[in-house]
Amino acid sequence: MDIDIIELSERKARFVLSGVSASFANALRRSTLAEVPVLAIDDVNIYDNTSVLFDEQLALRLGLIPLKANAKNYNYPEECSCGGLGCASCQVSLTLSAEGPKIVHAGDMVSTDPDVRPADSSIPIVELKEKHKVVVEAVARLGTGRKHSKWQAGVAGGYKNMPILIIGDCDTCGKCVEVCPRKILKLEGNRVKVTEIIECSLCKLCEKTCDMNAIKVSDDPESFVMTFETSGNITASELAIEAAGSIKKRAGQLVEILETLG
Ligand code: SF4
Ligand code: SF4
Ligand SMILES: [Zn+2]
Repeated sequence: MDIDIIELSERKARFVLSGVSASFANALRRSTLAEVPVLAIDDVNIYDNTSVLFDEQLALRLGLIPLKANAKNYNYPEECSCGGLGCASCQVSLTLSAEGPKIVHAGDMVSTDPDVRPADSSIPIVELKEKHKVVVEAVARLGTGRKHSKWQAGVAGGYKNMPILIIGDCDTCGKCVEVCPRKILKLEGNRVKVTEIIECSLCKLCEKTCDMNAIKVSDDPESFVMTFETSGNITASELAIEAAGSIKKRAGQLVEILETLG
């Protein structure tokens, strides 16, 4: 297996994964969505809410705020020594107390663990008018996207086969350059050049428009352009590492089960 990193930022990773099957690429994508643990607000005690939002709407908004935290510091409630009753090892409390007029943002929440905080403090929660108040205590717990989308660490994961373009001798009419929606073909001297092959969408418009059959579009069945994005609760590289680790762990568990059967 080979990995060629194309782009790696705090929230986005793009790389070419070669020497793997489509099912492995899909397993990695699914793992980023469903198997990587993060913290999310799971319970909300509302002490006062005279805002325009119903209690349920307010709780829903709080639940969808991505929280930045080191998930390794927390247990799943169902696996915690407290038996799921709730303790400092399996939950963290964030309080919010605000009075209008003002727009309440995620950054207004105060956490009992300074390492747990909203991934983006500028996320608006509710606009309070004069004398409107919200006083809430939100309880965040560890979970995965398999249980609920609020624990989904990866928000946009996808892959496509690595495109292959073969361009033979042609009369440089330029039709393929015109028709390419990704603008990745250009005329250079007496030939057509591909500028950024990974941007090719495999639409084959260039192939169809060429009267000389000089251009052939195909894909590599064992090479994939993969893209992961996070909502900010963990970094993109942590997401990829955790997702791959989850596949490895589950494969190990399968081996153990098969060994006991043998
Ligand atoms: S459409 Fe065909 S002939 Fe025209 S420039 Fe493209 S490859 Fe060459
Ligand atoms: S297959 Fe589509 S995106 Fe790719 S080079 Fe041809 S026209 Fe452009
Ligand atoms: Zn606990």
